[in-house]
Amino acid sequence: MYAPAGVKTSKEFPIPDTMKAWVLGDPGQLTLKDKPIPTPKKAEVLVRIDAVAICATDLENIYHGPPAMIEGGLPFNKNWTPGHEYMGTVVALGPGVDEYKIGTRVSVEIHAGCGQCKRCREGMYTSCHNYGLNYGDVDKGHRANGFTTDGGFCEYQVNNINTLVKIADEMSDEEGTLVVTAGTAMYALTELGGLVAGESVVVTGPGPIGLMAVAVAKALGAQPVILTGTRDNRLKIGLELGADAVVNIRKDPDVVAAVKKLNDGKGVDYVVECSAATSAVNDALRMVNRGGKVCLAAFAHEEVPVDVAHIVRNNIYLYGIRGEGKSATHRAEAFMRQKRFDATKIHTHTFPLADLPTAIRYAKDRVDDAIKVVVKAKMDTAHKVAAE
Ligand SMILES: [Zn+2]
Ligand SMILES: [Zn+2]
Repeated sequence: MYAPAGVKTSKEFPIPDTMKAWVLGDPGQLTLKDKPIPTPKKAEVLVRIDAVAICATDLENIYHGPPAMIEGGLPFNKNWTPGHEYMGTVVALGPGVDEYKIGTRVSVEIHAGCGQCKRCREGMYTSCHNYGLNYGDVDKGHRANGFTTDGGFCEYQVNNINTLVKIADEMSDEEGTLVVTAGTAMYALTELGGLVAGESVVVTGPGPIGLMAVAVAKALGAQPVILTGTRDNRLKIGLELGADAVVNIRKDPDVVAAVKKLNDGKGVDYVVECSAATSAVNDALRMVNRGGKVCLAAFAHEEVPVDVAHIVRNNIYLYGIRGEGKSATHRAEAFMRQKRFDATKIHTHTFPLADLPTAIRYAKDRVDDAIKVVVKAKMDTAHKVAAE
């Protein structure tokens, strides 16, 4: 029976000693193993994972390694469990924790910064200067579950209370996994200044973050919101999430001209780049007006040439974001709670945790037009148990 010293548990949420967890071996090789249930320390809780979504960055970590960094290096053959977009139920409290109750449903942010570096002190904990330093004698207490510490493709995980976002009772487990996705979009708009009501915004790339960027920009009052991409089915979801117009680049290859035509012949105020296409940065720089701002939320595999002279001559601001800093997930969850947009439109498939390789194939190869694919340890009972 799970009963670590100083940890508070409840009979209502019995915790076994071991759990099923997927572990990464060589690149692309995942094995389902038994692992001990981790122990929450000070300022941490144990979360029973009720649902976890697959993200494009999981595929990066699993097949290539970075941005995951385990024990200071590549994540392969280190008994490491990937997965970071999860939600669940608080089932045990570490010593001194009174901010959360057992039984509370939460979504989790990924990055628990060290809390002591310059960036953490500024709320930029996703850019913590002690990223990945949480092992052996370099332990700075940093955690980014699914990147530098064990993640969510398992049944239970430890989370710092700073990473928890309480979610509405009516929110499904699947929708709960999308709080972080919407939070990343919110962080992009936050870094661009946040005051986008009445301002023109282009989102390039209708992946999960791009589609959530459309929804969040619209909820913040931006107009027009224009979405560009190559797949009509995804552009259609963008329209359902609030885009005022869409451009299919396959049909309209001069995307810069197409965007300007939709904005009274002028460049837009902001671009949120979510496509990772090699041409996307220069296109974005030409879509914005003079003094406009571009936020890069996706990255290409190779180095991309950028027209620096165009940036300088036009006083364009270029930002990069990592993850979801400055408590953006809390603002995103508030919009979802208030039903300002329906994030579930991007959830397409759910599989049992034991079928993770199938779920990854659906996400990676976009089988059956998959967008967000979720896995659940308990396919239908998890939410019910938490609500009782
Ligand atoms: Zn992600
Ligand atoms: Zn830090």
